[in-house]
Amino acid sequence: MYDFLIIGCGFAGAVLAERLAKQGKKVLIVDKRDHIAGNAYDHYNEDGIMIHKYGPHIFHTNSEEVFKYLSQFTEWRPYEHRVLASVDGQLVPIPINLTTINTLYGSKLSSSEVKEFLASKAEARKQVLTSEDVVINAVGKELYEKFFRGYTKKQWNLDPSELDASVTARVPTRTNSDDRYFTDTFQAMPKNGYTEMFRKMLSHPNIHIMLNTNYKDIVNLIPHQKLIFTGPVDSYFDFRFGKLPYRSINFEFETLDQHQYQVTGTINYPTSNLYTRITEFKHLTGQKHSKTTIVYEYPTGEGDPYYPIPRKENQEIYNQYRKLADEMPDVYFTGRLGTYKYYNMDQVVAQSLALFRKIIKENDSQ
Ligand code: FAD
Ligand code: UDP
Repeated sequence: MYDFLIIGCGFAGAVLAERLAKQGKKVLIVDKRDHIAGNAYDHYNEDGIMIHKYGPHIFHTNSEEVFKYLSQFTEWRPYEHRVLASVDGQLVPIPINLTTINTLYGSKLSSSEVKEFLASKAEARKQVLTSEDVVINAVGKELYEKFFRGYTKKQWNLDPSELDASVTARVPTRTNSDDRYFTDTFQAMPKNGYTEMFRKMLSHPNIHIMLNTNYKDIVNLIPHQKLIFTGPVDSYFDFRFGKLPYRSINFEFETLDQHQYQVTGTINYPTSNLYTRITEFKHLTGQKHSKTTIVYEYPTGEGDPYYPIPRKENQEIYNQYRKLADEMPDVYFTGRLGTYKYYNMDQVVAQSLALFRKIIKENDSQ
């Protein structure tokens, strides 16, 4: 008899498996894929270059707790991600910063002058509710069109005005020349990759791993006390309130017989092309190799559910599932798909650590 059956071997499931196993609980963790690490899975391709199968994953967090927790399972390689956007035939930093403005407009404005410039362009919105409001409120229509509208349409197949503010609010606006994509306190990549980190997390005698297995095929056959579900919450309930929309991506990898393809980790293509961005893995991993692998991201409505789509009508459907989920004493839901939240890796780790504490508390009071 297992104490816990955990569905999904990504961050959400693996953190709980590790924590519970250390408490002496017997855990079976199941994934329908043929590997651990969920969407953070990385591996060496046929040319010996480390790639991320489900798109580029850059670790960043402000949470010391999360960073310390993961540091038990990996060493780190310091890495600060930088992104350029291809706009008006030039490559300029995104998030929009001092350099972006001066390059695009051929100006030599100081930081305070850029602030004034952006204030003069910005169109104050009484309420900032949508992803369009966020950007237009900060930088005005012209920069919105150049950097956000087309990219967002490609990525989500929605106009920014149809998406919650939280989506484009992920990308700030700066008036200094800081060109890092993230400003979190901790920014680093697991030295030997994510999969290796997961291997260490899961190597405990109390954890059994079952891959290539849809949980529906075994859930009634394997005795267990409690279930933790990190797959899509709507699928757990057989879509009884309708399907929750997710956005997917087709990743196209290309290995080139050259040391480097582009000057920085990622280049975004807000208005041109069908793909949103190209990432070159060697920038992220620091790997030395005579060849290089890049990945193009083509967003699509079909395929694996990667992105919950933050907008009111979807939240309303999710709330119905959430209500059902809350009524089940022996089943817990967590993770990006299990709680339909556009979470980064560190947020998922924090969420699962919090759920672990809740489970232990409940256990103690029984
Ligand atoms: P997942 O990793 O999706 O794990 C869920 C697992 O459940 C999957 O392995 C799935 O196979 C399994 N499963 C589902 N249904 C079943 C079933 N019926 N039976 C058995 N198993 C099942 N975050 C960052 O912090 N930085 C980044 O740079 C970053 N980049 C990203 C880029 C892309 C393109 C994407 C899609 C996401 C990115 N993220 C990034 C987010 C990150 O991937 C997620 O926050 C994190 O992987 C979520 O972990 P999870 O365990 O909740 O879900
Ligand atoms: N975005 C944009 N232009 C950009 C970068 C981002 O319009 O050059 C918008 C787009 O809607 C995107 C969102 O901001 O989906 C969040 O961007 P982020 O890079 O955080 O997306 P992720 O890495 O999660 O795909």
